[in-house]
Amino acid sequence: MTTTMPALRLTAWGSDATLADVPRPTAGLGQVIVQVGGAGACHSDLHLMHDFAPGTLPWNPPFTLGHENAGWVYEIGAGVSGLEPGQPVAVVGAWGCGRCLHCRAGLETYCEDPASAPVPGGGGGLGLDGGMAEYLLVPDARHLVPLPDSVTPVMAAPLTDAALTPYHAVRRSLPKLIPGSTAVVIGAGGLGHLAVQILGAVTAARVVVVDPKQDALELAKSSGADVVMTPGPDTAAQIRALTGDRGADVVLDFVGSDQTLATAAASTRQTGDLTIVGIGGGTLPVSFFGVPYEVSVQTTYWGNRAELVEVFTLVEQGLITADITTYPLAEAPAAYAALAAGKVLGRAVVVPFREYTPA
Ligand SMILES: [Zn+2]
Ligand SMILES: [Zn+2]
Repeated sequence: MTTTMPALRLTAWGSDATLADVPRPTAGLGQVIVQVGGAGACHSDLHLMHDFAPGTLPWNPPFTLGHENAGWVYEIGAGVSGLEPGQPVAVVGAWGCGRCLHCRAGLETYCEDPASAPVPGGGGGLGLDGGMAEYLLVPDARHLVPLPDSVTPVMAAPLTDAALTPYHAVRRSLPKLIPGSTAVVIGAGGLGHLAVQILGAVTAARVVVVDPKQDALELAKSSGADVVMTPGPDTAAQIRALTGDRGADVVLDFVGSDQTLATAAASTRQTGDLTIVGIGGGTLPVSFFGVPYEVSVQTTYWGNRAELVEVFTLVEQGLITADITTYPLAEAPAAYAALAAGKVLGRAVVVPFREYTPA
């Protein structure tokens, strides 16, 4: 007899995810079952549901959503050591082959042998069943990061993307974020407000935030932004004026639309970094006179295992914290509806279990 559990399923491209009962997973060799204590509802899931045509990604529905997961070790497969049932853990979301050089460095987002991964270029909630369910099958114990005592699964879950992604982007540009430098954060949503906190925690840079929404700018301010502004035709000029006409040393675009990328390019200092994190689908024309001299234009995607440990250290030290709204699993569709309507401030987290519940 198979035991079932409720899960939020994406069953076809171009559709809303819906709740359905699915078989409860069990742990095979080297695998771990996590009882889910938090699964972040991510803006990228809305793109997954509605914006991708069949064939865009190397995997297809059906699968359970939820790629930002934390909970408690529930069932430990044969061959796994060093974990105990009930232990709070976060799940590193990108599951690569585990053997290529990038995977060995923990950078499984950029696995160079995706054909040997559980699913090419994905993970739980991205082609394979994710954490918007009572239980999550983690295919290898290496994807688990134990949580510090002061960090609960519900706090940790959104941080595995919403903090890890900006942390990776900021870390890459640290040599340019010297005292006296200026960093611009475009888009103060789930990732952006944490980018502001991370910049405050690990650099002395002045932080400027651009967002059209007043409540997002207020969240940015309470997250430590030095200057906030709504976007307009003068945004780049304002940023240049703030920086003695030099421009910002680092611009992090968490939107990635044509408009924000144009603003980003016009705001970046010569020799600065322009990092595209948002998957808004815009295009930035790069040409000799198109961007300031020696600007490095880069995209970044998610982050690595060691960086997630560093993120939790920042949380433990009280230097960063996610602004969270929780939803029970039965209301997961409502969480995405609120997200789509722009009504979630900070991060929505679906909570299947409030505390560890042994078998
Ligand atoms: Zn996410
Ligand atoms: Zn790999």
